[in-house]
Amino acid sequence: MPCEPTPRGFTQFVVKLHSRCNLACPDCYVYELRDSGWSAQPRVMPPAVMERTVQRIAEHVRRHRPPVARVMLHGGEPLLAGPRRIGRFAEALRAAFGGLDTALDVVVQTNGALLNRTYLDVFRTWGVRVGVSLEGTREAHDRRRRHHSGRGSHADVVRSLALLRDPEYRPLYGGLLCTVSLDADPVATYEALVAEEPPVLDLLMPHGTWQFPPPGLPAEPGALPYARWLAAAFDRWYDAPEREVPVRLFDSLVDLHLGGAATSEVWGALGSDVVVVQPDGSIEQNDILKAVHEGAAHTGYHIDAHGFDEAGTHPGFAAERAGITGLCAQCRACPVVDICGGGLRTHRYRRENGFDNPSCYCADLRALIEHVRDRVSGSLRALAKDCHKAVTGGAILPIMGRSADVEPLH
Ligand code: SF4
Ligand code: SF4
Repeated sequence: MPCEPTPRGFTQFVVKLHSRCNLACPDCYVYELRDSGWSAQPRVMPPAVMERTVQRIAEHVRRHRPPVARVMLHGGEPLLAGPRRIGRFAEALRAAFGGLDTALDVVVQTNGALLNRTYLDVFRTWGVRVGVSLEGTREAHDRRRRHHSGRGSHADVVRSLALLRDPEYRPLYGGLLCTVSLDADPVATYEALVAEEPPVLDLLMPHGTWQFPPPGLPAEPGALPYARWLAAAFDRWYDAPEREVPVRLFDSLVDLHLGGAATSEVWGALGSDVVVVQPDGSIEQNDILKAVHEGAAHTGYHIDAHGFDEAGTHPGFAAERAGITGLCAQCRACPVVDICGGGLRTHRYRRENGFDNPSCYCADLRALIEHVRDRVSGSLRALAKDCHKAVTGGAILPIMGRSADVEPLH
């Protein structure tokens, strides 16, 4: 294998401390889609692999010196690794980063059902933030996020979120993650999420490909189920008299329309900056490739023998970071490609030609991008009008449109 350094180092390290889950969500991309690799993994990451992973992360960061490195503890359900094991891992990371210029951000992404004060006390000691998955309302959450017995997990998760709102633990509250469910009302979903007072929230579209499309796709031309759902949530968020919460998916889209940089891997053409370490120490590409086909995330590299620079030479990482030139002809010619970036790489997959396609969400992405563009430019026109009035005492320039001349998508 060639061993050229990666053009840019990784800054996001997903570490899978545990390979199993206490919940059984019917559309989980780890267990229920196209990859069964989890079943060959040890249940828990052995101590020697944890130690080697810490060394590899520190050596990579020392070499590339990014301002911030994020280590995300995932599973399965990472809390199944237990508070002591997670604490030891975070402690070792903190020690390895001592003396480095890079800030270390450790986040555990949990389904929230097992969280309690024992975990939170450990997290507070070692500076581990907590991101929780919540599907919005109780009905929507319990429809999808169920224990193996079939019992919904909403009651457990809201108990955990009450702890995270407690001033004692509030600094650890990393945010909420919600997967769009077309069965759920978008405004009710957004409001249920806001009610949990997260510092930030993010909305994800379910993972799928052209071959195995996400729920509700393919849709009739013009149906645009995901664009309509997200536009309704966006409008509720955007039209609130005061900003209630940052929503990563929406903030990033607004920023891009205003000429800023993408802060969500869903938008823009930067691609994912994620590398994954499995419980057995194998190094993999972004986990969501598990929705593509068996072994799609594999690299053949292992932390015992390879550093992240060497793993980063795998063609899959290069394809992820290829930018607009790496997209299919239809995307390269698309008027919104700078903002859309062709969607997530996983969503472009088709058995016949691999990733050389637009996203299976193409029509929805484009409609949502245009909806947000129209809302943002409507606001800018209204702002310009107000400024003009303030300056001129009320005479309106003829070129200015009305602020409310946007055709709603829903
Ligand atoms: S909680 Fe997460 S990892 Fe567990 S089954 Fe559900 S989606 Fe999968
Ligand atoms: S809207 Fe469709 S064609 Fe345009 S960049 Fe996105 S996926 Fe590609």
